[in-house]
Amino acid sequence: MAHVITLIPGDGIGYEVSLAAKRCLDATGVKIIWEEMLAGQDALIKTGELLPQNVIASIQKNKVALKGPLTTPIGAGFRSVNVALRQALELYACVRPAKTYAGVKSSFQDIDLVIVRENSEDLYAGIEFEEGKPETKNLIAQIKKDTQKSIRTDSGISIKPISKFASARIVRYAFEYALANKRKKITCVHKANIMKFTDGLFLKVAREIAQEFKAKIIFEEAIVDNMAMQLVQKPHNYDVLVLPNLYGDIISDLCAGIVGGLGVAPGANLGKDLAVFEAVHGSAPKYKGLNKVNPTAMILSGVLLLRHIREAAAADNLEQATKDVIAEGKFVTYDLKADPQDPTAVGTSQMADAIIKRLKK
Ligand code: NAD
Repeated sequence: MAHVITLIPGDGIGYEVSLAAKRCLDATGVKIIWEEMLAGQDALIKTGELLPQNVIASIQKNKVALKGPLTTPIGAGFRSVNVALRQALELYACVRPAKTYAGVKSSFQDIDLVIVRENSEDLYAGIEFEEGKPETKNLIAQIKKDTQKSIRTDSGISIKPISKFASARIVRYAFEYALANKRKKITCVHKANIMKFTDGLFLKVAREIAQEFKAKIIFEEAIVDNMAMQLVQKPHNYDVLVLPNLYGDIISDLCAGIVGGLGVAPGANLGKDLAVFEAVHGSAPKYKGLNKVNPTAMILSGVLLLRHIREAAAADNLEQATKDVIAEGKFVTYDLKADPQDPTAVGTSQMADAIIKRLKK
């Protein structure tokens, strides 16, 4: 039976990498009926909405989506469509594997880390108070009254909610993921020494849940700034990391960097029964339409999608074909060449062609 899957091509480089991934998935032989939906800038132009309701409805119906990156204009009054989508669908867990592949430029070998990022709250909740607005002044006055602490009156304020519920949900997800994937250790990353009531709560809940799994999974804790340094020096010391939303976002780009860059970093956003697969990278607008960027991150997001829909053999086949093309180093994009100016670098679609050719029939 064919799988019906929502495809959101995205914008910027989205079309190029999504098309490359779609062609690779189709070439595995898995029968997929793609339901293509517009979101982001293109949807805004055509429908007047960044995230039309029919996109949400399509994912709710199909349960699975492959999504290209979407641009969020900075400071233009728009909230991120990506964050809005995760919130609308309650995709509370963001899972981002960071693995080294032979042939990718990296100072390290054999890294195999997984980031489990809380996706629903923290500073991404979108609760903000703009500088100079009456409600901001009221809040500043209320804070002074309740805490005797002064905030400059010309401040903007972003709220960082962290709940017991969402912390427990993501930490439990991380432990269950670790068990299901034969992982040995979870590191809870936080800044509880400074933010006692938010990160402190996240850590407290993590410690409690860790007790339930202590016979099977090692639990440790790390303060986020120290974690950043440890990861660039000794990434092999880590296995699964569980983090609140903002640290998860930053540390996953850091991990992408240590395994060879954003071009090779895939991801998944998961809810109770919905899943949206997307690369860690954004829409890299300056490369739009140039057929230049690396499709690997989107293709590996497609590999995660295939595993999710229980097409494990096709997933292994596509992952191996991708690994082979990268290891050979011939038909790869500029970012995977030793010299990014190397004239033998191929384009996005040619790299996808090479991967398709490598698939075992
Ligand atoms: P970006 O990830 O789009 O690009 C940063 C740099 O990384 C690029 O200039 C390029 O050098 C490199 N890069 C990214 N993808 C690559 C690829 N596939 N191959 C080779 N190199 C690659 O980050 P940005 O420039 O900060 O963000 C651009 C836009 O994307 C912003 O509007 C941002 O909000 C959005 N964004 C969207 C998502 C998402 O859709 N999930 C995620 C991150 C950023």
